[in-house]
Amino acid sequence: MTKTILIAALFHETHSFVEQGTFLSDFSIRRGAELLARRGDASTIDGFLEVADEEEWTVIPVNDYHAAPAGPVDHAVFVQFTNELLTALRQSLASGPLDGIWLSLHGAHVTTQSVDVEGDLLRMIRAVPGAENLPIFGVFDLHANFTELMSEGANCLVAYRENPHTDSRDMAVLSARLLARSLAEGVLPRMYTRNAPVMWAPPGTGTADRPMKDLEALARQIEGEGNGIWVANVIGGYSFSDVPSAGVAFSVATTGSTEDAMDALDRLERLAIDLRELGQPPEWDLDEAVLEIKSKSDTGGPYLIVEPSDNIGGGAPGDDTAVLRAFLRHGITNAAVAIADAEAVAGLATAQPGEKVKLTIGGKGSALGAGPLEVEGIFLRRSDGKYVLEDRNSHIVASRGVNIDMGPSAVIEVAGVTILLSSDRMAPADLGQLRSQGIIPETLKAFGIKAAVQHRRAYDKIMRGSYTVSTPGPCTSKITTLPYKRLRPNVFPFDA
Ligand SMILES: [Zn+2]
Repeated sequence: MTKTILIAALFHETHSFVEQGTFLSDFSIRRGAELLARRGDASTIDGFLEVADEEEWTVIPVNDYHAAPAGPVDHAVFVQFTNELLTALRQSLASGPLDGIWLSLHGAHVTTQSVDVEGDLLRMIRAVPGAENLPIFGVFDLHANFTELMSEGANCLVAYRENPHTDSRDMAVLSARLLARSLAEGVLPRMYTRNAPVMWAPPGTGTADRPMKDLEALARQIEGEGNGIWVANVIGGYSFSDVPSAGVAFSVATTGSTEDAMDALDRLERLAIDLRELGQPPEWDLDEAVLEIKSKSDTGGPYLIVEPSDNIGGGAPGDDTAVLRAFLRHGITNAAVAIADAEAVAGLATAQPGEKVKLTIGGKGSALGAGPLEVEGIFLRRSDGKYVLEDRNSHIVASRGVNIDMGPSAVIEVAGVTILLSSDRMAPADLGQLRSQGIIPETLKAFGIKAAVQHRRAYDKIMRGSYTVSTPGPCTSKITTLPYKRLRPNVFPFDA
C-alpha cells in the first residue's frame, strides 16, 4: 500500500537586534510542483525526495518559504504560510488516507508576534481534526532555539550534526528514513527536550572543536546504547534571537522509556555545563591580527580575518568596513574583502574596466559598525552575481540549493585591496563566490570573512592561518552586551 506524505519547509534564522525587519518580499517561495523540482539541488527537500522515491511514497508538496537571516519577520508571512499548509492538510485528510507529514525547519524563527514559530506551527498542525496522531517527522538547523512546544508537536525532528552544515541533506535523508521506519514498524516515537542553562555565540558552536565536538560524540554514543532512542540532537542554539529558549538545548526522539530519555538529556546537559567556558573562544584585536599578517612573508593561500560581528549567516548586514579600513590603514596589499552594498554597485553601472572611480562603500546596515568608507580606486569588472556552489555540501545549501544569486555585483581595487561589492548579502560559504567574480582566493595574502564558523568548510583547506577578531557589530560574540528582554534567567554567561 503506497503511503502518502505531505511536505512543507519554513526556514528563517531571526536576529532580534538588527534594525532591518524581514518581509514577505524577502522570502523565496515555492509551491506545489516547484518543491518536487528541487530534486538534485542538494537541498533538504532534495534529500527527502530521495527517500520518498525509494519508498515509492505519494508526496503532497505544499509550500517552501525561506529567507536569509535578518531581523524579526512580519507575522503576516507566518499567517500566509500556515493558511496554505493547514488548508492543504485539511484537504489531504478529507480526500484520502494521509500517512505522515515531513517538515524542513530552521528552529530560530521569530516573528513580530511569535517567539516560537516552529512550536506554534506544530501546535496548529496538531489542532487540525485527524492530525492529532499523524506521524510528524522532519529536519532542522543546529542553530535552533528548541522548545517544549516543538517536542510536544513532533514525533521526530533531526538536527544537523555538522557546523558548517555539510550534512543538512544527509540529515533530511535520515529523518525521512526514520519516518519510513515508523510507518513500517507501526510505532511512533515521541520527543523530549532540555534547555541547558548555557548560551554560546556562533563562534562557539563549530563542531570541529570542543564543546560541540564532545557533545556530538556523546549524542552518537547515546544513540548506540539500545535504549530505544532513535536520535539525540545537540542543538547549539542561536544567541541573537531574543526568546526565552535561546541557547544550547538537547532533544531526543524515542520509543524507549521516559527514564532513559531523561537520563540521556541529563548527561548531555551536564557535559554542556562542564564545558561551558569552551564555548567562548578568544578573539583577536583587529589591528594586532592585521599587523601579524603583515609581518608574514610565506606564501601559499590567504590568511583569514574572520569577523563574527558582521556574520552574514547570523543575520548581520555584511557591509561593515572595519576590516577593509584595517587592510588600508596598515598597507596590506593583495588582500580582498566582500561587502554587500547595492547602492555602490548601482553607482558603478556605467564604469568601464580600468576607469578610476570614487565612491562610498558599506557601513549603512548597522549603527554599531565602523560606518561608510569613501574610497578612490579602479573599476575592474561587473557581473549578474549568479554562481553555482562548487561544493554540494556547502553550509548554505540546505534551503537554497546549489544555484546562488547575490544580485548585480562589481569588483574594484583600492590601494591593492580587491573589493567585491554585491547587491545582496551572501555568506562566504563557498569558493565559487570569489572565483565566479574573477578573484582567485588561493593567491591572496589576506581575505576578510564575514562569518563565524560556516566559512571553514570552504576556506580552511586553502588558508595559511585564521584570526577571529573582535569588532563592534550586531553579531558580536560579547553576547552579555546585547539587550535581551525575554531570555529565561540563570543562563551562562549572563548569570555565571
Ligand atoms: Zn545554522
